Amino acid sequence: MSGDTIFHRIIRREIPANIVHEDEHIIAFRDIAPQAPIHILFVPKTTIPTLNDVQPDQAEIIGRLAVAAANYAKAQGFAEDGYRIVMNCNDHGGQTVFQIHLHLLAGAPLGRFGT
Ligand code: IMP
Repeated sequence: MSGDTIFHRIIRREIPANIVHEDEHIIAFRDIAPQAPIHILFVPKTTIPTLNDVQPDQAEIIGRLAVAAANYAKAQGFAEDGYRIVMNCNDHGGQTVFQIHLHLLAGAPLGRFGT
């Protein structure tokens, strides 16, 4: 795939990552700076910089990310305890890597939303 973010480089195996899942559409790997005991990033292989850029015919990509996260939680045995999925968008959302990705956070009770 083409693209210039660090996540594209992980997909192309140009830099290492702790990959936990990969299929035709998605790669998932551990966040390098985890914000919870379990912190996995689910990234589509299609280049899409932000959620604002998702086209109507790409909507299923967002569903694939969410279902992959839920499947991972079930396979790892923490789905019943629960987890959080987050997608940051642009500056106010705190996005730092401009290839869309879903954060899966789990492994402990998480705080409520803050500012
Ligand atoms: P964002 O702030 O929603 O864009 O999330 C980007 C995430 O990517 C952050 O949680 C970073 O810790 C994470 N990250 C940045 N570089 C790497 C890397 O090389 N491997 C794994 N995670 C990374």
